[in-house]
Amino acid sequence: MSLFYKLLRMLALTKERELTCSEVNELLDYYVELEQSGENVKALMPTMTQHLRICPECKEEYDALKKITGIEPIMATAQEAS
Ligand SMILES: [Zn+2]
Repeated sequence: MSLFYKLLRMLALTKERELTCSEVNELLDYYVELEQSGENVKALMPTMTQHLRICPECKEEYDALKKITGIEPIMATAQEAS
């Protein structure tokens, strides 16, 4: 919940400036989550999208996170069941 408020505040703040890497990192989870739930993140968070386009470090984080969250946790579920 607090992350959502942070996001809203950040979105309001970042209309006129670029995000820093630490801000991007903080919101990356949420960004990927939104993207994978089918939201148009490019429209919702253009400053994030822009940063990921120009910053190879954050792009790498983003790719890694996407890879992790894109995989169904089959193993974990199977382990919990037994
Ligand atoms: Zn960055």
